[in-house]
Amino acid sequence: MKLKNGAEYMESLRKIKPVVYFKGKRIEDVTRHPATAPHVRAAAMTYALASDHEHRELATATSHLTGRTISRFTHVHQGVDDLIKKIKLLRVLGQKTGTCFQRCVGCDGINAVYSVAYEIDEKHGTSYLDRFKDWLMHIQDENLMVVGAMTDPKGDRSKGPADQPDPDQYVHVAERRDDGIVIRGAKLHMTGGVNSHEILIMPTSAMREDARDYALVCAVPVDAPGVTMIFGRQASDDRRDKKERIDSGTPSFGAVGGEAVIAFEDVFVPKERVFMDGETEFTGTLVYRFAAHHRANYGACKTGLMDVLTGAVSYLTQIQGTSKASHVKDKITEMIHLNETLYSSSIACSAEGWPTPSGAYMVDTMLANVCKQNVTRFHFEVARLAVDLAGGLLATLPSQYDLESEEVGHLVRKYFSGVAGIPTEHRMKISRLIEAMTGSTALVESMHGAGSPQAQRIMILREGELEKKIKLAKALMGIPQKG
Ligand code: SF4
Ligand code: FE
Repeated sequence: MKLKNGAEYMESLRKIKPVVYFKGKRIEDVTRHPATAPHVRAAAMTYALASDHEHRELATATSHLTGRTISRFTHVHQGVDDLIKKIKLLRVLGQKTGTCFQRCVGCDGINAVYSVAYEIDEKHGTSYLDRFKDWLMHIQDENLMVVGAMTDPKGDRSKGPADQPDPDQYVHVAERRDDGIVIRGAKLHMTGGVNSHEILIMPTSAMREDARDYALVCAVPVDAPGVTMIFGRQASDDRRDKKERIDSGTPSFGAVGGEAVIAFEDVFVPKERVFMDGETEFTGTLVYRFAAHHRANYGACKTGLMDVLTGAVSYLTQIQGTSKASHVKDKITEMIHLNETLYSSSIACSAEGWPTPSGAYMVDTMLANVCKQNVTRFHFEVARLAVDLAGGLLATLPSQYDLESEEVGHLVRKYFSGVAGIPTEHRMKISRLIEAMTGSTALVESMHGAGSPQAQRIMILREGELEKKIKLAKALMGIPQKG
């Protein structure tokens, strides 16, 4: 692993020059700009844990391609043990950052593409897997961060990719050359895009045969000519000024992943970086494998976040003098219960993992969908309980400027104090953390990241084996199976 820690990761980002815009202006250095730096630090934690004695076993793996030690985020899962270790790693990272650390998307993309490339080669005699392995060994040895790029803008959603008035609404091959392809289009909501090294482009949905040019998997460096990123706004991002460290809530790592639009305007991709080109019949499998891996993650990374949130609320009740009330204890108990229920399904879908023909392991897809569906409810319920316990203070707290003001600072200190001996600043800090962790941007991520709730419900019904369940009921009551 060339990049050995967070500092080396950040240094590596300074050496590349991707085109990144925020609020209409170019960002020259994402590691230092206040909008992006917190997200860079969160991703850097994935590098830090790999060299940390306590977490090294979770954060690293042995490459099945080279036998060398690599980051788990670049690993192709070789068994159930790998799947479970990934889940445990994500919870620890959620606990240490309190936010999205972004690197799992690339890992899930790597695993989905690996298994599908094998199956395409088996059917068509292509050599996608060999190309992919070459690229992957480079990623593993250099220890690069990969953004898994799936979601297309989709334009008019009543029409498929090939029927759009504007063909660029889905990333597609605009031109085929002897030495590669030229691509156009964009990917939206790209977590970690601005602070990755490579983009792994995948189709956004199952494609019909007439959408051959859209059935595309390839890898592009973030600073390839023609790639432009626009970083998204987040709630309270103006508070990330150094003078407002308390008010920003999560000054070190940001409130959520840090997402960007990535536009591809005639980007050339050499042949050796193309891992699917036109095999529409494999697009559905690829998307579903990626989604299932990512849905499994959510009961782990979000569990880590909710550990922090539960701790923050518990501490706030202590310093407000309400921690011993029975309803407070009951609500904290409920937060823990919901959180551990989510974690259980992440562990369960990993424990029920199975080998694809390539040898790469998949999670149990039904349980992964159930896991993510529950995140869209439980995270909101945990946030609701946190806001309930924290009180109206979350919405009315004066700013750090007032706390530090010569004129009114004494009033803030006096009237926002709690239990004697605890500095008012502590109460303000922890309240801001709860505000940031229950705010809109953080929760939208739990609702729509890894697919909207309806995407999971479709798969839950599809995989629910209803006919089998009807047979069970009939058999139990002696009703003929054909009746
Ligand atoms: Fe990883 Fe969770 Fe962020 Fe997805 S939302 S990239 S699983 S930390
Ligand atoms: Fe996500």
